[in-house]
Amino acid sequence: MGRQRRSRVHKAQRDVHRAARTRVRTRDLDLIQHNDLRPEEREKLENQPIDEEKPGLGQHYCVECAKYYETDVALKTHVKTKVHRRRLKELREPAYTIEESERAVGLGRDHGKDHMNAAINVKVGDKSGDVAQDSKMATETA
Ligand SMILES: [Zn+2]
Repeated sequence: MGRQRRSRVHKAQRDVHRAARTRVRTRDLDLIQHNDLRPEEREKLENQPIDEEKPGLGQHYCVECAKYYETDVALKTHVKTKVHRRRLKELREPAYTIEESERAVGLGRDHGKDHMNAAINVKVGDKSGDVAQDSKMATETA
């Protein structure tokens, strides 16, 4: 079972089962892109207070990989590795957005328009009861 799987994965991914483990899971890429890579956030993450719960007291953190290292040497070596470089490349790609996911399932723009129309109808409806009735039906069928 496991043996067969190995022959089908990409070479660089040495252990697919490891990647699926919860304790191996790190921060999501889009979270890193939107928050951690901002200069002030990066500054904060790279200069964390000493924390005994974290590896290396939380003093050697790789922002891109969201990982703590035991020593400064370990962190510096990690930065030169393939794992880190691949991560950098992944982070250069635009983050996965809600708009993108809506487009993927065929919603996207039209969906947004419906919402806007509904809002306009409701506004008009404030003035006359008939229109309010119409807009109510429109939103129900939509
Ligand atoms: Zn890294």
